[in-house]
Amino acid sequence: MAQSVKGMRDLYGSELRAFRLVEDTARAAFARHGYEEIRTPILEYTEVFKRTVGESSDIVNKEMYVFKDRGDREVVMRPENTAAVVRALIEHKLLGSSDPRLLFYIGPMFRYERMQAGRYRQFWQIGAESFGVSTPESEAESLLLLFEILKGLGLTQLKLSLNSVGTPESRPAFYAAFRAFFDAREPEYCEDCHRRIGENPLRVLDCKNDRCQKALEGHPLITDFLDEASKHHHARLKELLAALGIPFEENPRLVRGLDYYTRTAFEVLSSDLGAQSALLGGGRYDGLVKQLGGPDTPAFGWAIGLDRLASVVQQVKGEVGATPPALLVPLGEAAALEAAKLAQAWWDRGLPVQLDTRGLALKKVFASADRLGIKTVLLLGDGELAEGVVTAKHLATGEQTKVPFAEVPTRLSPAKA
Ligand code: AMP
Repeated sequence: MAQSVKGMRDLYGSELRAFRLVEDTARAAFARHGYEEIRTPILEYTEVFKRTVGESSDIVNKEMYVFKDRGDREVVMRPENTAAVVRALIEHKLLGSSDPRLLFYIGPMFRYERMQAGRYRQFWQIGAESFGVSTPESEAESLLLLFEILKGLGLTQLKLSLNSVGTPESRPAFYAAFRAFFDAREPEYCEDCHRRIGENPLRVLDCKNDRCQKALEGHPLITDFLDEASKHHHARLKELLAALGIPFEENPRLVRGLDYYTRTAFEVLSSDLGAQSALLGGGRYDGLVKQLGGPDTPAFGWAIGLDRLASVVQQVKGEVGATPPALLVPLGEAAALEAAKLAQAWWDRGLPVQLDTRGLALKKVFASADRLGIKTVLLLGDGELAEGVVTAKHLATGEQTKVPFAEVPTRLSPAKA
């Protein structure tokens, strides 16, 4: 039997309904805040991610789906979308004016990761990016948008974990102090960390190894090495979040897996997720646009893991149920034609009704309607046809009423069906 590729799964039923609920909630919030959608291709040239996400990052090092296409060009299935969105904005000359540009995207990402619960090789992200504004106020706006989505989905047990990773200018002083600390306890760190300390010391903070985390106790804090402007920025963001009622915790070890962050970096964790607790992450990336060849443009954004958020939504709300429409069942050939005409008119008016075209015996129709969770069956036999009515049967109560054709749309609103 053919199977789906490892780490890639089919979405259907209640899980897909949870996805849709999250997407619809997010789209409504994006519209309220004035964010516009952008869709970029799944495939990009490797350069888009290599330098930006970071040559030393796990994503670039181990996890990218890279291959040569038939024209011998090296392409990658996007492992994240921020760098791709930036590539698109530069390509279409959409940056450079003083107007802010607020964008969102929804789509699949691909990372060849080790398999674990809640971690997939094709997973989905919903992301928001704001370009052209460098203020802490713009970050607060973006975080308000984010929490509006999460609260709209009924999630309240959330923790915003916040850090400032400074700027490329302020980092060397931190690196020097951190390397001295590392050297003093060098044998305690894993092999990967020995590589990381040379390439990008921040990655050592991100190591999942328990021994390394222990050896990090008492490490120099990046927040103690911030330049004055970054310090002020960080303090102002915290002030805004406190005033706006967004609870956060400072986490000086939080660095995120991508290299392009400057100043603010954050994650939102959910206790409902167990070990894979990061529901989403984001931060400021003021250098990325320039790095990819565009005009110097400050930017801030985040990406929600849709698979994980949908799973938390299902835990919090219970299974997201389907609302099947009423089932219109014609009995006999004459009724079948009339039923198609009636359904056509009702669909035109927006009435949700499923047309039964199987020509089954009535008993079988009811049994199948029951299995499908249908609440109301509309029967159209020769008698009904002559009278211009349908017999509406509510399956739960067995109650039966005759409804004239013209009254069906008002009597059978989606809520009643
Ligand atoms: P990142 O793009 O690494 O900042 O990740 C942002 C969010 O995407 C994470 O917090 C996760 O919720 C989600 N995510 C990242 N990688 C995966 C994966 N392999 N499977 C499922 N969700 C993921």
